[in-house]
Amino acid sequence: TRPVLEIKDFCVDYGLGDEAVQAVRDVTLTLHRGEVLGLAGESGSGKSTLAYGVTRLLPPPGVISGGSVVYHPPSGDAYDVMALTDPELRAFRWAETSIVFQGAMNSLNPVHKVSTQMLDVIRAHEPQLSSQARTARAQEMLKLVGISADRMDAYPHQLSGGMRQRVMIGMALVLEPQIVIMDEPTTALDVVMQRQILAQLVELRERLGFSVLFITHDLSLLVEFSDRIAIMYGGRIVEEARSADLYKDSLHPYSEGLLKSFPALRGPRRELSGIPGSPPDLRGMPSGCSFHPRCPHAFDRCSAEIPLLGIPSARNDPSRSVACWLPGRVPVG
Ligand code: ATP
Ligand code: SF4
Ligand code: MG
Repeated sequence: TRPVLEIKDFCVDYGLGDEAVQAVRDVTLTLHRGEVLGLAGESGSGKSTLAYGVTRLLPPPGVISGGSVVYHPPSGDAYDVMALTDPELRAFRWAETSIVFQGAMNSLNPVHKVSTQMLDVIRAHEPQLSSQARTARAQEMLKLVGISADRMDAYPHQLSGGMRQRVMIGMALVLEPQIVIMDEPTTALDVVMQRQILAQLVELRERLGFSVLFITHDLSLLVEFSDRIAIMYGGRIVEEARSADLYKDSLHPYSEGLLKSFPALRGPRRELSGIPGSPPDLRGMPSGCSFHPRCPHAFDRCSAEIPLLGIPSARNDPSRSVACWLPGRVPVG
């Protein structure tokens, strides 16, 4: 499948000079056309920083300190998002890539009806549309995300958290972007609601054909709904695989730890253990593999050299990559 977004050697720091800490380290990750790619990792692993960095929405003191992000439009030449001017960036956001922020459901304006807020997004980006066409588009999108016609003139406080979240998803989709990034859109909601929203998103993806980067702590949701999963630890991607492969046969000890922190979805029961210790502090990142202080398999080489992400030596499978020094997993190529 063709790529839609190619992130390469991407780095983000917080602060400048001696004060700087590196929150995203040499991330290389490709989003393919039409896929749902899940990004998981404990709190502080750099998931949001990566998402805001690649869309250039990073708030200060965040600084992009290296790398490229190449976007492939449906027609025409690919270009580097890092090289766009401000007006080009404004057009790129919403129309090509839209992002639903962590806690976005609380960012609706309380004094305007939800339909008005959606119409404003359409008007700002497609001023040539007639007012009837805009209204029709807004109604259609709200219906698609499960907001019935009689709720369109509601104010945000008149809707449940789940409905507000759906409105945000509708706003993100209304200009029919190629890429939708969802940063933990459902943490504030109960588990049943989380599953419903993600299932609906996957269904909309089938119909509208966009690609999704879905960020969450909840690896079990990703195993169920995403096509591929990337696991992040200490600012780096440590494993990337098809969801089913990762679930059956994870290669990085950190992924294994994350999988053991929720009950098996099907098949025999697994022993639940979780991961001892806590995520690294950016100011004192462990040497070598930053997971080594917590890793049950760590050996000499682990604290001495950083393992880079690559195809594991024991599998001739380009759909998999891992960053680990264990025999058979050492990256090749
Ligand atoms: P969560 O799952 O809690 O949302 P995350 O994976 O999205 O976590 P980030 O929010 O990207 O993690 O944070 C990555 C690292 O960058 C963390 O160590 C965090 O403390 C640090 N960080 C985030 N924002 C800032 C900031 N404004 N200034 C300094 N450090 C920051
Ligand atoms: Fe564990 Fe070493 Fe692999 Fe890191 S490189 S995950 S410390 S075995
Ligand atoms: Mg986050």
